[in-house]
Amino acid sequence: MSSDSTRRALLGRAGGFLAAAGFANRVQAATEPQSAQDYYDKLGVTKIINAAGTYTILTASLMPPAVQTAVAEAAKRPVRLLELQTKAGEYLARRLRCEAAMVTAGASSALTLGTAACIGVMNGSPIQAVPEKVPGLPKNEVIIQKAHRYSYDHAIENCGTRFVEVESLDDYQKAVSERTVMAHFFNAAEGGAIGREDFIRVAHQHSVPCFNDAAADVPPISNLWNYTQMGFDLVTFSGGKGIRGPQNAGLLLGRKDLITVATATNNPFDEGVGRGMKVAKEQIVGMVAAVDWFLSQSDQEMEAEFRGRADRICAEVKKIPTLQSSIVVPAVANHVPHLLLRYDQQRVKMTPLEVAEKLRNGHPSIELNPSTGRREGSAGLHSDENTIVVGVWMLEPGEDVIVGRRLYQVLSAAV
Ligand SMILES: *Cc1c(COP(=O)(O)O)cnc(C)c1O
Repeated sequence: MSSDSTRRALLGRAGGFLAAAGFANRVQAATEPQSAQDYYDKLGVTKIINAAGTYTILTASLMPPAVQTAVAEAAKRPVRLLELQTKAGEYLARRLRCEAAMVTAGASSALTLGTAACIGVMNGSPIQAVPEKVPGLPKNEVIIQKAHRYSYDHAIENCGTRFVEVESLDDYQKAVSERTVMAHFFNAAEGGAIGREDFIRVAHQHSVPCFNDAAADVPPISNLWNYTQMGFDLVTFSGGKGIRGPQNAGLLLGRKDLITVATATNNPFDEGVGRGMKVAKEQIVGMVAAVDWFLSQSDQEMEAEFRGRADRICAEVKKIPTLQSSIVVPAVANHVPHLLLRYDQQRVKMTPLEVAEKLRNGHPSIELNPSTGRREGSAGLHSDENTIVVGVWMLEPGEDVIVGRRLYQVLSAAV
């Protein structure tokens, strides 16, 4: 038998079997209620308590119930993708007080799409030219402060750009040329002599668009419009960090002409550099719902809640000899209270890294902030070999006490 006739025969037989067994109408409606099955258990994946923060490697944040519901509802009906993208963008622009907005597949994706848009607009070239035809284009340089170079550079270089590094304001003024397509600012950078306003001003003197990567920089909630209103032409936020949307969503906010081109670079169009950065209806709706949720919060209430969690953890561990606690709020990224615990390792004979390992391997499995026991720190958290860092903002209700008790158990066993 040819393979085709084999397939037909098999299909025929299977069809008859299904009908006979009464399975023919078991194709379920997408809207039919389902009881949930725990796929983490099914796959044998360990569920964790996130006492770290919004780290990508730990699946960042959990969506609040209202956002989870919005995602589940969106999954039940097909829509026209372009209409959803357009209307979600218009709604977000209104709520976030900017000219235009789009939902991207994360902040990293927004960097690529935004850069592609700057290349397209500055060269007056079709978006299909990015990146493979860029070397032949007159303009492909992105200006950045040396201290702002970071691991997300690649998202910009994907478009075929070349970085031009500057240090002083004077350098910067001299570096802008007819080849410049964009000036890029890393909002949470700890170094760099040129401030935001000056960075924007010089770019605009030369009609160069200015991008600000503020991916991890809410709260405060008002940052969602502070930087576009300051004059940045493009600003990105990660959707799955403080805003608590889907992990693979993000926001690109800013100038309408640039956002329009960025949108044309993305799915469902086949020819742009962003075609592989697909954002499904569930993530678009989830991102919009997360923005609604986030705007309904208050900075003061969130901060009070996080300090309360830190206090409850401290109450559990206060009997550990020599233990000292403090609360640190990083300046820009992850700008929420973090709990720092220090102790004398002569009295408590265990390093913070060993504590982190014991919590990771315990039940329940707990992840402390990755700055724990490390001098290089993480995201504005300055730690050292003697410090345990607890990121409290991603804890679920009741988990603060669990983390406190596990810390007490592990530390008291080493006294
Ligand atoms: C997290 C982060 C990103 C990437 O965000 P995703 O939404 O995960 O793509 C980009 N830039 C900075 C500064 C970040 O902190």
